[in-house]
Amino acid sequence: MRIKDISIGYIHIPLKTPFRTALRMVDSVNDMLVRVTSDTGLTGFGEAPPTAVITGDTPESIEAAVRNYIAPALKGMDLDDLESIFRAMEKSIAKNTSAKAAVDMAIYDLAAKSRGIPLFRMLAGRPEEIRTELTTDITISVNEVDEMVADSVKAVQDGFHILKVKVGKGGEKDVERVRRIREAVGPEAVLRVDANQGWSREEAVRTIRMMEDAGCGIELVEQPVSCHDFKGLKLVTEAVETPILADESVFSVEDAERIIEEKAADLINIKLMKTGGIHNALKICEMAQASGVSCMAGCMLESAISVSAAVHLAAARGIITMCDLDGPSLCAQNPYEGGPLYEGEKIYLPELPGIGFKEPESVQFENV
Ligand code: MG
Repeated sequence: MRIKDISIGYIHIPLKTPFRTALRMVDSVNDMLVRVTSDTGLTGFGEAPPTAVITGDTPESIEAAVRNYIAPALKGMDLDDLESIFRAMEKSIAKNTSAKAAVDMAIYDLAAKSRGIPLFRMLAGRPEEIRTELTTDITISVNEVDEMVADSVKAVQDGFHILKVKVGKGGEKDVERVRRIREAVGPEAVLRVDANQGWSREEAVRTIRMMEDAGCGIELVEQPVSCHDFKGLKLVTEAVETPILADESVFSVEDAERIIEEKAADLINIKLMKTGGIHNALKICEMAQASGVSCMAGCMLESAISVSAAVHLAAARGIITMCDLDGPSLCAQNPYEGGPLYEGEKIYLPELPGIGFKEPESVQFENV
């Protein structure tokens, strides 16, 4: 079975409410979809969000990478030899991890469909690790304190018990944000704090210690300092009690290796848009597993196709103990049929082949 065609299309989905972090504000999902078709007529689907401030990938660059570099390199390749396909994709163009992720997951979708099994079964290391039900957190955007408190209370009322609180906009105010949210939601809710690189080293240590002293009961702090400040990340990790999760600091397998070897963070956030897809994400899982470093499966602002690829990965690998896969819950509409079921904080994986989606009827695909 060979790759016959690679096609692209676009989706536009408004969000329920604008998404705000220390890095950006977004009010809709505008992603490129990829369809890979085999010479036997099977199709696989992938998706790439243009998260320029994090990955450097723009709508134009994602399309150009697939159209001009990745698709020409992969067409005609043997789908029974995935290793060669991913090697060819890696060689076709450097970086461009979002474009690669979209093609990578479409190929995995197709490969699992050709075996007649759900993708999570194909990705599983050991069958006993498989979970067909996951729990995701939900993001609380960084805003004024009262608004964040109200959003947090609503999220808990809506059935989410793990909140990912975005901070990184002024250390003392961030302490206030988290302290007031904890007061409002009570002791049961799990609070994850994500600074999205918003603090300096000193500010990070001071702010996290203040949160600890105020009894905020935080599960972890994500990416306290700049993604380039590896030394700072390690310093913060050593200076505070709260576990530190590396997000923007870990894109590649090599980044993960360095974080793990030098103990620069306690935990790793794996996102397909950073790793360039499932193939490299699996390598990070294996490395993390060998060192006992727990991982989170995260997403950018994405809709259900690419988030579901991460859902299958998380379901397949026990070292992924945390899910930040709330993309579909933030979207005001669901343009897809099939796939995992997103019900409040729960995600259920059906026994459908591949990632599980039908071709979205609203999307016009163009062969590239
Ligand atoms: Mg993050």
